[in-house]
Amino acid sequence: MQINEKHLLIGNVRWVRSPNHGGYLENKEPDTIVIHYTAGSSAESSVRSLCSETSKASAHLVIGRDGSIFQLVPFNIAAWHAGVSEHSATGRKGLNRYSIGIELDNAGVLTKQNDESYLSWFGKSYPANEVVSAVHRNQTTERYWHLYTQPQLEACLEVCRVLAARYPIRFVLGHEEISPGRKVDPGPAFPLEKFRDKVLDLDRSDVDELADSSEEKPVIMTVNIDRLNIRTGAGPNHDLARSNPLKEGDTVKVLKHQNKWVQVDHNGLIGWVNGKYLKA
Ligand SMILES: [Zn+2]
Repeated sequence: MQINEKHLLIGNVRWVRSPNHGGYLENKEPDTIVIHYTAGSSAESSVRSLCSETSKASAHLVIGRDGSIFQLVPFNIAAWHAGVSEHSATGRKGLNRYSIGIELDNAGVLTKQNDESYLSWFGKSYPANEVVSAVHRNQTTERYWHLYTQPQLEACLEVCRVLAARYPIRFVLGHEEISPGRKVDPGPAFPLEKFRDKVLDLDRSDVDELADSSEEKPVIMTVNIDRLNIRTGAGPNHDLARSNPLKEGDTVKVLKHQNKWVQVDHNGLIGWVNGKYLKA
């Protein structure tokens, strides 16, 4: 699976153009992925709805429960998936301008009929083995949620890794995180934290080459921000390494790269830093 020059995913992907989209993304490429559920009855019906002009909604991708993938909007164009939204870490509002929207076919919140059967808002019932009971991160009471399937989660992870290899993806967010009063998708049935780590810790082949060459000739870089945290792993969720932050002008030896994170050696202290704060 890869992304062609028209910003379309190629491989086993069905391209169905949606008329519901804006102009180019900020910088003409995404740096954020937003995960949603469709709250629908099938991937096909959700694709139809997201391609209908009256819905005024779309997403870049819809992923079915069997792992089938539909693309509706090129990745350099804004789809209409996030709506009123704000990302607290960056202060950005209107996330459609920065992000790729991925819709997973899932019925969403269900109502218990009896021990064997749970009902969706659109009247379809689901067996108990497709349901999990959990408290949503933005709520206080337990509700019933339609489970995602393994092929669907695997397809979503593969797609996100391909996206992160092609574009400067920095954030993988749930819709519930950027529209918390309004939205509960993808909900507690989606393993958001684990998924986020798996996508952002991606190894990139182009930087592996860089790491190989660094064995012959060490690459020395300089910190170009006042204070730079040094962490035990390649990502902002990892603990701080046992040291003060690096300071502007400190030099480090580059050991390897992972996504946009760089493993460095600073006078024998080895840890990871965000590569955008290093200069050659
Ligand atoms: Zn959503």
